[in-house]
Amino acid sequence: MKAYFILYNQINLSYFDAKITDRFLYVHHNWKINFNWKILNLNIKSKILDYALWYNFVKSLNDKWYKAEFKVEKSFYSWILSYCKDEKIDEIIVVKPTENYVYENFKNIRLKLEKEAIKLTFIEDNSSFLLSHKEFLDNYKTPPIMEVFYRFMRKKYDILMDSWKPVWWKWNFDKENRWFDKNHSKTETYKSEMSIGLEKALGFYNYKEELNYPTDRNWAIKLLNFFIKNNLDNFWKLEDAMYEKDDYVYHSNLSTAINFWLLSPLEVINIINKQDTSINNKEWFIRQILWWREYMYHFFHFYKDSIYENNFLNHKNDLPGYFWWDDLEKLWLNCLKTSVKRVLSNSYGHHIERLMIIWNYTLLNSINPLEVNRWFFEMYTDAFEWVVSPNVLSMSQYSDGWKLATKPYVSSWNYINKMSDFCTNCEYNVKNKYETDSCPFNFLYWNFVNDNKEIFKATRQPFVVKNLEKIDIEKIKQIKEKFKS
Ligand SMILES: Cc1cc2nc3c(=O)[nH]c(=O)nc-3n(C[C@H](O)[C@H](O)[C@H](O)COP(=O)(O)OP(=O)(O)OC[C@H]3O[C@@H](n4cnc5c(N)ncnc54)[C@H](O)[C@@H]3O)c2cc1C
Ligand code: SF4
Repeated sequence: MKAYFILYNQINLSYFDAKITDRFLYVHHNWKINFNWKILNLNIKSKILDYALWYNFVKSLNDKWYKAEFKVEKSFYSWILSYCKDEKIDEIIVVKPTENYVYENFKNIRLKLEKEAIKLTFIEDNSSFLLSHKEFLDNYKTPPIMEVFYRFMRKKYDILMDSWKPVWWKWNFDKENRWFDKNHSKTETYKSEMSIGLEKALGFYNYKEELNYPTDRNWAIKLLNFFIKNNLDNFWKLEDAMYEKDDYVYHSNLSTAINFWLLSPLEVINIINKQDTSINNKEWFIRQILWWREYMYHFFHFYKDSIYENNFLNHKNDLPGYFWWDDLEKLWLNCLKTSVKRVLSNSYGHHIERLMIIWNYTLLNSINPLEVNRWFFEMYTDAFEWVVSPNVLSMSQYSDGWKLATKPYVSSWNYINKMSDFCTNCEYNVKNKYETDSCPFNFLYWNFVNDNKEIFKATRQPFVVKNLEKIDIEKIKQIKEKFKS
């Protein structure tokens, strides 16, 4: 008899070619904790979500008369083995994990099971992404320029195309959406639900707060519909804005549901494409999934063997304790305090806060990229190796140089001041350069440019270096010296 071993992020039966007589196994193992042989300290919301999702999924299988087992075990190998022996299972089928370290773990388990005359077969994952990695490799010898890939995907899947040309004759609308609306009020958010799995998980972890992530497919569909009804029409316009009192700013909060397979990426794209909203909203939202999400996956698998080895900028500083609450309330930087607090409390932060605040700050502060990567992995519920590592290491911390980011992306206080309301409530003075209350995003930025002049010149940004002529770099260094990051 054969059994499907379903992994933590494969919560959708339609992705399996399973018969009612097949068995399903899942061991709740705090699956993320052994990432790259390091024990991780996951955000409690990730743990609760994982438990709740699985409890609900196994229950839904059992309700349909499938024989499914949910176990909370430390060692899943020994449990699999005893289960196979008791139930006379001689073949385990696993859809190939999206995570490389999990795949490697399962290859080891396969070797051990072989010795017990139990076969472990991997089947290709054709569902988590539109393009399989094999198809990617059939088309590209190395990851192409991102824009080339986007156009390829639009054409291949015939999305927002008008025969051979893009609808409205434009591939993208990104130059026009840098808006900050001072009168913006708080975004409507989907009211958290309760599910039997969530109830069990809250009991298991003795935790009382709500969870803003779907714990079953029905909830995920309702979240998608809620986003379409309430927030899609404003998605494009304020996509790059940040507000102290708004956690979501019209973002969908769908990444977790998609990454766990509660929703398929193609299904989401098709539904959005049918909506009666402006082309700007449609294109901007669809590209996030059709382009960024897909590209990150293929980029990661292309460079998975070397992605952790590089530290191009030789950054070695530790992450400060306030990234785990220590003295976070005493932190003066309002933008950073608000963004970190949001992540610690919600296990979520929208894209621009991840990018313009957290990534910017860790890069300007020369924090060890592997530490930054680990923090992102531990803190966000949507974090998986294939998406965290390229976004954080390659894109944000420039740790492998040119491979993904064409240049180190850093910015000064200017963007934060223009695109957020953080600076009005901050103890630092956003305009001061050389005083003790100067905004750290000012002196850290100039210090970074000064330290990396050659890189800026080599990446076609000599104008950035030229601006250094207007800066008193000795004063910048003095003030940076006094600043405790
Ligand atoms: C440093 C950094 C780390 C990130 N880590 C993760 C991560 O661990 N998991 C994750 O899913 N996304 C990650 N992202 C991408 C992006 O920030 C999140 O997907 C997004 O914020 C999730 O919120 P949302 O669903 O409300 O997104 P929306 O703004 O509503 O976007 C819609 C969807 O587009 C997709 N998407 C957009 N950008 C990306 C991207 N760069 N990579 C992959 N998918 C993308 C997601 O599926 C998202 O749900 C990271 C980005 C940065 C800059
Ligand atoms: S003044 Fe500087 S530190 Fe304060 S919120 Fe603005 S950018 Fe952030």
